[in-house]
Amino acid sequence: MANTANETNFFADVCKNFDSAAQFTAHPEGLLNQIKACNSVYRFQFPIRRGNGFEVIDAWRVEHSQHMNPTKGGIRYSDMVNEDEVMALAALMTYKCAIVNVPFGGAKGGICINPKNYTISELENITRRYTTELIKKNFIGPGIDVPAPDYGTGEREMSWIADTYMTMNPGQLDALGCVTGKPIALHGIRGRKEATGRGVAYAVRECVTVAEDMAKIGLKAGLGDKRVIVQGLGNVGYHAAKFLAEFGATIVGLCEYEGAIYNENGLNIDEVFAHRKLTGSILGFPGATEFKNSMEGLEQPCDILVPAALENQLTVENIRNIKAKIIAEGANGPTTPEAEEIFTEMGGIIIPDMYCNAGGVTVSYFEWLKNLSHVAFGRMENRYAENSNANLINTLESLTGKSIPAEHRLMIVKGASEMELVNSGLEDTMIHSYHEIRETLMTKAGVKTLRTAAFVGSIDKIAVSYMNLGVWP
Ligand code: NAD
Repeated sequence: MANTANETNFFADVCKNFDSAAQFTAHPEGLLNQIKACNSVYRFQFPIRRGNGFEVIDAWRVEHSQHMNPTKGGIRYSDMVNEDEVMALAALMTYKCAIVNVPFGGAKGGICINPKNYTISELENITRRYTTELIKKNFIGPGIDVPAPDYGTGEREMSWIADTYMTMNPGQLDALGCVTGKPIALHGIRGRKEATGRGVAYAVRECVTVAEDMAKIGLKAGLGDKRVIVQGLGNVGYHAAKFLAEFGATIVGLCEYEGAIYNENGLNIDEVFAHRKLTGSILGFPGATEFKNSMEGLEQPCDILVPAALENQLTVENIRNIKAKIIAEGANGPTTPEAEEIFTEMGGIIIPDMYCNAGGVTVSYFEWLKNLSHVAFGRMENRYAENSNANLINTLESLTGKSIPAEHRLMIVKGASEMELVNSGLEDTMIHSYHEIRETLMTKAGVKTLRTAAFVGSIDKIAVSYMNLGVWP
């Protein structure tokens, strides 16, 4: 195996968090063990032609829990992927879906490659072959297991997966629902690309809105005076930073693998992004202090830290140096359980990954629904709503003799677009779920963190599914 050097304890960490929460539930041990276990772990290799020879690629798909079907979870392309990591990420997906009331079981996939070392046609080859292997073993399908983007993958890879699946399942009416995160032209959904980062921003906004909780950590309510550092300028990090800035926060620090930059007066995320595109690095951005060691960037003064790169970034080694009072986990598993314990003792709040980055799977759920219904949200009713709103305004104007200014009329009359419906569903989910978790934290004696509270709610929901399905006696 290519990656023994990268073996981690990520799955054990997830189980540790699960166990800490399970003691606050009343379920029998056997049921808890069933919920915790990874049901199906498919590890496989396949060859690709490279240069004059062959290269063997290591890959995984893990379906953690089939208490709800299909199972759902992203596919990661990274040369650090290993079985432990994919199992941990699959387990997190199960708990995440339960928290945001998305009716899926959890799954995850991984291919052990650094995509930067392969040509586009090699990547296409690898993705299509990976998909074929999943089809052969019944590990993919709109009612079986539905992948999505994760670290190192995006719309392009999802289109290759969809096309391969459709080619091998001719005539299957719902075939496009076999994968989410597709481009719009392939019946993806508007708002999916930015959904995880947007969800992170909603989660943070909701957390800082509660004045009572902010007072306990010495902060004022609201985002207006909050300084934010983001690690990882990929899909999740970029969009989290963009929407947090849009909601009024100031992005003071950005960390990428090549280094970190900091400016207490604020960094414009799009300008930094453009600078990186041009020069290949965030370093050298005008007006910013820079750190060659990216991890130093996390330790700079701020109120909120958003780790949005990879797991195991905040450990016992560096957690005491973190100045932020709030850690919003955009990435999966960025804080080890030991580091969380210390940070909680330091008086900090962690908005846990399984809730904080659940915006992606929430909008993936909307995309899957769109694919199964074969019609875009708003398509049937948009114009009807517009016409009936216009009729109402016209009637009011003629009855009152007063006319409504054009810009107001436009706002009132307009029907909702797919994007607006998606964002509204996402915002509602993130707000509702935050308060559900907080309620458990406030009411369950002994529960000390949002993560434990989130796990408690999640375990309870999954346990009910098992019992209602009759899977458990
Ligand atoms: P991505 O590949 O789009 O971006 C990751 C970014 O992190 C890259 O720019 C990379 O250069 C940077 N990075 C890597 N190592 C770093 C380091 N040590 N320090 C600083 N930056 C580093 O990946 P993504 O989709 O944004 O995923 C990021 C995290 O969010 C992962 O943990 C993933 O599991 C999680 N997540 C993603 C989604 C999604 O919808 N994409 C959903 C939920 C959770």
